[in-house]
Amino acid sequence: MTRYSEEKAMVLESSLWLSRNGYFGTHRGTGGNVSLRLGESSMAITPSSTEYEGLTPEDILVVDFAIAIIEGKTGLKPSVESILHSTIYRNRPDCNAVVHSHQPWGSALALINTPVPALFDEVSLALGPLIDIIPYGLSGSPELAANTATKLSNNANAYIIQNHGILALGKTMHQALLNAELLEKVAHAYCLALSTGKAVTTLPQSVADMFASLRHNDVKEASVTGKGGA
Ligand SMILES: [Zn+2]
Repeated sequence: MTRYSEEKAMVLESSLWLSRNGYFGTHRGTGGNVSLRLGESSMAITPSSTEYEGLTPEDILVVDFAIAIIEGKTGLKPSVESILHSTIYRNRPDCNAVVHSHQPWGSALALINTPVPALFDEVSLALGPLIDIIPYGLSGSPELAANTATKLSNNANAYIIQNHGILALGKTMHQALLNAELLEKVAHAYCLALSTGKAVTTLPQSVADMFASLRHNDVKEASVTGKGGA
């Protein structure tokens, strides 16, 4: 048992759920990673290049935002995307959990560089009225983290990474998982709608503006109250 046993178990359970439900693109691969903020400047995160089936909570690492290992088993390295996760926590005080995945329908939009406008009430309320595209950067590179940082100020809870996959953010791990699901749902519906060649209708601008304002207030409230640890 360590100080963060519960948080590590939550990160592992979430990764297994995503893997078993096809969110990592393959069932045997490691096409994604999950983290949970632990406080002002540390997070629990999945290990790099390790199949999630068979892991135990002790295999989840605790690192600071400069990716120095605080707790970790010998031989395991933190996820190659750790710097991407820490960049999100540094820039978004409202975010306490991050899912990065290679889920199929989100990945389809990542290939046609098509942001998702406000299409459904529940999706726009949870994710924001625009799911934007983060320009390509090599997996694990500082460039990808820097490209992500330029997009976070829109206060959305989901992003599509060009030619790569998606990011889902949440106040809690449950919300981050739900947001990954909502993104897959809207990406699936949007791809099908686009494939008909017919015009895709969007929500009225006044409704999109209302959802943008709610997301803005959420982030503002978190930065004022300094809500950190999950
Ligand atoms: Zn990836």
